[in-house]
Amino acid sequence: MAAKKSSQAKESDNAKAARLQKILILLKGAYPDARVGLNFENAFELLIATMLSAQCTDERVNQVCEELFKRFTSPSDFVAAPLEEIEQAIFSTGFYRNKAKNIKACCETLLIRYQGQIPRTLDELVNLPGVGRKTANCVLSNCYNIPGITVDTHVIRISKLLGLVKITDPVKIEFALMELMPKTSWNEFDLLIITHGRRTCKARKPNCAECAISKLCPSAFTFA
Ligand code: SF4
Repeated sequence: MAAKKSSQAKESDNAKAARLQKILILLKGAYPDARVGLNFENAFELLIATMLSAQCTDERVNQVCEELFKRFTSPSDFVAAPLEEIEQAIFSTGFYRNKAKNIKACCETLLIRYQGQIPRTLDELVNLPGVGRKTANCVLSNCYNIPGITVDTHVIRISKLLGLVKITDPVKIEFALMELMPKTSWNEFDLLIITHGRRTCKARKPNCAECAISKLCPSAFTFA
């Protein structure tokens, strides 16, 4: 009996994984230009921009970073600047005191431990002040092409709508999604789902009528 139950659960996971592969193919067709929403020129800029993106829109972060990266071009620029100047420069992204403190501490660590370079492993990145798995995976996948799933609000929301996960904890979601896909799909999944969340499956009102994956989505047309 126990063996039967476990085989049914495996089948269900396999079916989910197969459905997810079909979803990725359709999303790839729908968004051939899918890309990360933050503008950046290098790993340092994406690291800082992602730290600023907590509780803030990509559009606002891009606006702020356009000016910010004219003044601060390396970790040593942030380390040399008074905290108040950093706070002022990032004020409109919200939680500016905490973010400024973290950015300064992070840049100090980058200088001390990594000669100002951005490390290329998850363990090293998450040990930087103010850097969590989301930021670390975002930098690894988008700058170094290292597989990782960046679990942002779009990924949490849409993974649940698609019935891929039922949990809410971002780290548990990351590991559950990793189980459903080969490593080679992780980065692509992120870009496609985040783009889908920005353009079609919007938080306020998913546009199911124009959704390329509505036939594969258990939540399709369930919104008033
Ligand atoms: S069908 Fe609707 S809820 Fe499902 S992914 Fe598409 S837009 Fe989102």
